[in-house]
Amino acid sequence: MSFSEETRNELARVIPTARCCRLAELSALYELDGFLLGKNNQYLDFNNSSPLVARKILLLVQGLYPQLPTQVLFIRSRTRRAQRYTVRVLGSSAAEQVYGDFKKQKMDQERPILRKKCCRRAFLRGAFLSRGSVTNPEKTYHLEISTEQSSLAYKILETMDSLTIRAGLIQRKGSFLAYLKDGQQIVNFLNLVGADTALLKFENVRVLKEMRNQINRLVNCETANVDKTITAALTQLEDIRLIENRIGLEQLPPKLRMVAELRVQNPYASLQELANLMAPKMSKSGVNYRLRQIRAKAEQLKNLNPKF
Ligand SMILES: [Zn+2]
Repeated sequence: MSFSEETRNELARVIPTARCCRLAELSALYELDGFLLGKNNQYLDFNNSSPLVARKILLLVQGLYPQLPTQVLFIRSRTRRAQRYTVRVLGSSAAEQVYGDFKKQKMDQERPILRKKCCRRAFLRGAFLSRGSVTNPEKTYHLEISTEQSSLAYKILETMDSLTIRAGLIQRKGSFLAYLKDGQQIVNFLNLVGADTALLKFENVRVLKEMRNQINRLVNCETANVDKTITAALTQLEDIRLIENRIGLEQLPPKLRMVAELRVQNPYASLQELANLMAPKMSKSGVNYRLRQIRAKAEQLKNLNPKF
């Protein structure tokens, strides 16, 4: 089962306690994939491809409107790939009552969002259950909710925004996608809609991924340092060889000569290791200072007799 399906199945089992939230979630399921049908609007349909979500819709409808007649239809397409469940409210007056309640929900005065925060969360859960998906975090961080209606896309976007979730919006093949690409934002979303198990799983993967990245960074950094040490040692060896060829190492002051000889004997040693090998022991910066003097001497010799 995909991570998206797992999340959907988990959310299909979350039933809000407050009446206002139940209505908000149901209205999202209707707005994203529902219709008023028939000559006299005698059907109000909720569509969904998941049997668990269809069951939830039925529970919500029957809980809010125990007296209204309902029906569940199952349609399997000819290709046998797509399946669709329809939860139908039967009868013009029944459909009108449910539809009217959706329209009567209290809206924010400035934005096209539900007024109460609890209901906004329920609305997002319904929207995700209807047309949402989330990619397995092992692959990439991506959550989206799609709709063909631009006004609805903005409503989803504004609702997320009001709950401090910053989504992006793109248009693709006649659909609008409200999407999240940031791991933390997806975690916040899963938390808001109540997908606790999916959230834990997502977080575990995220922590592991970040740890792996950090280790890679450290390894790369270590490799870079080793490279630097080796490059420096190679330059020093060249300098020493030059001095030896031109004037002989014995011409160097004793301390420089000792460092030079130790470097030749220990081409891969770090400065600290060279410092420890000196007799008497010398500090790392002392060794570094002498290596710089060797460098200067080599440069001086090169300039004195460039042809050689
Ligand atoms: Zn509410």
